[in-house]
Amino acid sequence: MKYISTRGGSEPVSFSEAVARGLAPDGGLYLPQIWPDITPLLAKWEWLSYADLCEEFFALFCDLPRDVLSRIVKSAYSRFDSPQIAPMLELDSRTYVLELFHGPTLAFKDFALQLLGGLYEEQIRRTGRPITVLGATSGDTGAAAIHGLIGREGVNIFILYPDGRVSPLQERQMTCTGAANVFPLAINGTFDDAQSALKDVFNDAAFKDRVGLSAVNSINIARILAQCVYYIHAWLHLPVDKRDNVEFVVPTGNFGNVLAGWMAQRMGLPAKSFRVATNQNDILYRFFKTGRYELGPVHPSHAPSMDIQVASNFERFIYFLLGESAEKTRAVMEQFKKDGSFEFSGFDSGVFRASRADDADIVRLICEVKQKYDYVTDPHTACAFAELDPERVSVILSTAHPAKFPSVIRDAIGVDVTHSTLEALKNCPIVKHSVKAEKSAIESFIDSKLA
Ligand SMILES: *Cc1c(COP(=O)(O)O)cnc(C)c1O
Repeated sequence: MKYISTRGGSEPVSFSEAVARGLAPDGGLYLPQIWPDITPLLAKWEWLSYADLCEEFFALFCDLPRDVLSRIVKSAYSRFDSPQIAPMLELDSRTYVLELFHGPTLAFKDFALQLLGGLYEEQIRRTGRPITVLGATSGDTGAAAIHGLIGREGVNIFILYPDGRVSPLQERQMTCTGAANVFPLAINGTFDDAQSALKDVFNDAAFKDRVGLSAVNSINIARILAQCVYYIHAWLHLPVDKRDNVEFVVPTGNFGNVLAGWMAQRMGLPAKSFRVATNQNDILYRFFKTGRYELGPVHPSHAPSMDIQVASNFERFIYFLLGESAEKTRAVMEQFKKDGSFEFSGFDSGVFRASRADDADIVRLICEVKQKYDYVTDPHTACAFAELDPERVSVILSTAHPAKFPSVIRDAIGVDVTHSTLEALKNCPIVKHSVKAEKSAIESFIDSKLA
């Protein structure tokens, strides 16, 4: 199986190469060249454990020897605190919650990043070249990336975050690891300052080469494929009479999560529809309502991991919307970069629907869900409850544990939600490094630690 770029300007590459690169050299995103048909496999997959299902699914896509794949997958899901890995709860006969927060950082990003960490380690073992991971985070991604790479042989990870601007719990998840290969860099400035310094470092080709610089961003194809698995797993765990009428409802930011569901459907998973649930940063909501994709300012919200405007994974969907034309995709992305908007004429949202929740809605929905189902939902997941289709069986993807956002939950329902993993962090020393948000400062810090 080869992987092609959405912009058509790079040679097809192997799975390992696509994973190692992340972004294609032409600036596009990798997609499988051929999409396997999983329909005939679903019956065989019915009784598999989560890890076994993941292994079977990845075997369709990846070039690793089966025993290596098996080891990586088993290890990735060995640190989850639920034996089902992605347990599904019935709230009522038409409403299910798929809990994706049982990994080490209590957010769905663990599903992809625990696996990606293992894939990186395998690549280093094969090539003998160590890598340096550098990223910038406003919260969840940094923590999940760090926990995917803790203690991995040959990897050092440096994560920039704006000092004082991530939640105290998120900071602890990054800084209380006690791991020798993890370096959280608290920068004096905003997330954008961190992002822009990061870009400068990545543009320094000599440095990049010397330290084996790599990013862990949400566009890596392995992350998307890892996320396909829980859609399949959830569908297989629904009663048979409900399987033909499923709408997956997905709290959405960068479009990585819901894209994975849609890809699983394209491969033959019989889901009916997908609801893109946004917060007040609603570029995707507006897109699916009107066909117009238009940038706006980012408004910080109660659901910070969805506070984005440019959805980095959206290009993969646009590619299919444009009839799998790399040429048209390139033109649209260039126009969007130039004008901050573009419009699809005759747009049909197809299997996608959209809903939106602002901060007041989030608080109201947390209360309503608690009252109706005696279930506490985090602010991201709350967005998913904004609009449920009574004609469909809704499977709501719960993307984070409510204990990660204690103050919103307390204000909404007067309950203190806790989690033992987070409580344990409070007794660990914080180790962080203050570094200026400048290329030279970041590079010399990295050099000093690698020396
Ligand atoms: C990252 C994240 C999201 C958004 O997921 P995308 O793949 O970016 O759409 C939603 N909720 C939580 C808790 C997250 O961490």
